[in-house]
Amino acid sequence: YPHRPYPRLLAHSGSEEQNPQPDQEYQRLPYSSSKRGSPGNKYSGCLANLTKEGSHWTGTRSNPLLSLHSSKFVSKRTACLIATGPSPAATEEPEMDLPKEIFLKDYKKPDYLFDTVDLEFQLGDEKTMVTSKIAVSPGNEGNSSPLTLHGCDLKLLSIKINGTELKSDKYTVDPRHLTILTPPAGVFNMEIVTEIYPQLNTSLEGLYRSTGNFCTQCEAEGFRKITYFQDRPDVMAKYTCRIEGDKTLYPVLLSNGNLIEQGDLEGGKHYALWEDPFKKPCYLFALVAGQLECREDSFVTCSGRKVTLRIWTPAQDLPKTSHAMYSLKEAMKWDEEVFGLEYDLDLFNIVVVPDFNMGAMENKSLNVFQSRLVLASPEAATDGDYAAILGVIGHEYFHNWTGNRVTCRDWFQLTLKEGLTVFRDQEFSSDLGCRTVKRIADVSKLRSYQFPQDAGPMAHPIRPLSYIKMDNFYTGQLLFLKYYALNRVYNNVN
Ligand SMILES: [Zn+2]
Repeated sequence: YPHRPYPRLLAHSGSEEQNPQPDQEYQRLPYSSSKRGSPGNKYSGCLANLTKEGSHWTGTRSNPLLSLHSSKFVSKRTACLIATGPSPAATEEPEMDLPKEIFLKDYKKPDYLFDTVDLEFQLGDEKTMVTSKIAVSPGNEGNSSPLTLHGCDLKLLSIKINGTELKSDKYTVDPRHLTILTPPAGVFNMEIVTEIYPQLNTSLEGLYRSTGNFCTQCEAEGFRKITYFQDRPDVMAKYTCRIEGDKTLYPVLLSNGNLIEQGDLEGGKHYALWEDPFKKPCYLFALVAGQLECREDSFVTCSGRKVTLRIWTPAQDLPKTSHAMYSLKEAMKWDEEVFGLEYDLDLFNIVVVPDFNMGAMENKSLNVFQSRLVLASPEAATDGDYAAILGVIGHEYFHNWTGNRVTCRDWFQLTLKEGLTVFRDQEFSSDLGCRTVKRIADVSKLRSYQFPQDAGPMAHPIRPLSYIKMDNFYTGQLLFLKYYALNRVYNNVN
């Protein structure tokens, strides 16, 4: 996915038609969406005040609905600011906090590319230090524009360019950005050290700590809460990640790719060094550290490579992961047989924890799930639960190719990775279960969830023309079901 259980405020539809008022619209659910906004529509008069502009915060406060959204937004931000108190930047300059609309038509290639990213985390109870060493190259020939990095709730400790500390008049910092005013021409190295406070991060985006464990969620724009970065999917780099932490508190240290080194350090600490050999966008970065145990198994791929599979959970949940392991192995086999896609690393990790707000996430070789979606025991689980686990484990695994190795240029392309991957997981579930029953269940979901959304103020096309906050598009399964339905049309599956 990732997916969220409830929609969060507005996603701009991008269509020229006007959105109806929600309470009136609900009276004619679920089958009247095709008439929305048509001339002579009995609701059109009362919609006049909901202009395209006014429906997504950029107009004046005179519109009552707009004011409502604005105040909701402000209170959400306030909660976030309290939760991340130690970051002084976030509590200043309230003017800078106004949301900005992003348009598809404004897409521009990045001025700078990142070739390699070497991250170091020193995990701590009070604060976590993050060192990011990036090999930067110009995106365009002769480029000399400033290098602007995204950043949110970070305390900047130092910046070095080619090993030399950057003086404060050579860069600017605001609550959302760090801008290096005159970067060197050609290839250069940049080292940025920041301090973050995962134990206070209740947004559950970026790196956070919950019930003693560290966990990340970076899709769509969480990586900017870890370090300053060009947080956009078309900036793809090879990563290494070195994690250092207390050995008793955090015996397990996980990140993407292969574990290439680990060992003990002074003061009861230890470290692990991970290397991901494939380029990826930063939204697929992941780190998990804590007290977890694993169920281990293996899978031999079609070319004869043995892949180690590990599912990590708190100790008491381990017995409930056998169906998840079965589902993973079936998914790996099915993707080879049906799509000819073989897994590309020697290790695949899954983490299942109760504190994962996003539901499920396809981080490269380190999928993370909320316990509720994955754990099952014969005493308590129904057939439906087992089928759902098969589907969700398959979905995140299938993203390894549709989403991770082949990724999005920008977030307007979310539909490509999600629609195609939902299509793949539905086919997988149909092949392993009963195709007819699966189809009836999927159509029933579309009618129960997607039709009401499309008939209400959250309606939007699968590729919008603009957005303010990308998170608004992760609305439960709704969006992905619609993408999936479109993929079925493309594939001419009835
Ligand atoms: Zn997905």
